[in-house]
Amino acid sequence: MSEKKEQWTVGSILKWTGQYFCEKGVESPRLDAEVLLSHILGKDRLYLYVHFDRPLDEQELTEYRKLVKLRAQRTPVAYIIGYKEFMGLSFAVTPDVLIPRPDTEVLVEAVLERLREKDEPNILDIGTGSGAIIISLLAHLPQASGVGIDVSSPALAVTGQNAVTHQVSDRLQLLAGDVFRPLSGQRFDAIVSNPPYIPDKDIAGLAPEVHREPYGALAGGQDGLNFYRRMISEAPGYVNSGGFVAFEVGIEQAEAVAALARDGGVFTVEAIIKDYGGIERVLVLRAP
Ligand code: SAM
Ligand code: GLN
Repeated sequence: MSEKKEQWTVGSILKWTGQYFCEKGVESPRLDAEVLLSHILGKDRLYLYVHFDRPLDEQELTEYRKLVKLRAQRTPVAYIIGYKEFMGLSFAVTPDVLIPRPDTEVLVEAVLERLREKDEPNILDIGTGSGAIIISLLAHLPQASGVGIDVSSPALAVTGQNAVTHQVSDRLQLLAGDVFRPLSGQRFDAIVSNPPYIPDKDIAGLAPEVHREPYGALAGGQDGLNFYRRMISEAPGYVNSGGFVAFEVGIEQAEAVAALARDGGVFTVEAIIKDYGGIERVLVLRAP
């Protein structure tokens, strides 16, 4: 874009960037160009559509070019702009945390549905990352309280920031450590987790953007099921009688995780719920 002599406008630069991103293999080139430009201009995307002829000044162009370069190198948009929308809330994200995925909203909805009628539910989120799951739950359930655990302290710094933004920090305790280990004697009405679940052999083939996310947020061991094995065997010590465990699972893992639960002999498989793409994504296990 630097060679061009005439004045760049919103419309012409979006067209140029869309083509450039396309050549670089970006999955949603035009959308990403719009998100980055609206971020630089401090406006929403609709503004762009009604201001196609608006010229860009030198400073705007310089800032925009920096973001375009990062995106062309396949840095995820959310890391470039520093936030991601989830459950109608804006979550700060840095490369220390996984970017919340739309499919994870199916897990949050399944938990909300089961806790709406419950007085002062107490919820545990294992592998909380940005806090997308537990913070959305607490924001939607004003009487609830929760604990978020993550093995990554840099991730928990981001969780803490999001808890303050969404005004739930007085109801959320954050603990650093391995799965259930940081807990002592507490029990919960619901245990939720979107653990790392990518099988080791599949990691290399993931999109370049996913390789920018923390390896420890993705890698689930040889078959991807390591965290489910541990959580299913240890959860009975942390869930209240009649409570439940809700997991996000990877593609084609739901039946295997359900089998682990059945073999464990404690939980009943209450529901297997599909995501927006028709993939079995959420498993709900009921405690006796
Ligand atoms: N809950 C967030 C979400 O759904 O967007 C992040 C989920 S990410 C797939 C998994 C998270 O588990 C990461 O934040 C990672 O740091 C954390 N994690 C990995 N190993 C862990 C362990 N042994 N104990 C606790 N958390 C762990
Ligand atoms: N849903 C993420 C992906 O497919 C993986 C997250 C996880 O391991 N829980 O990239």
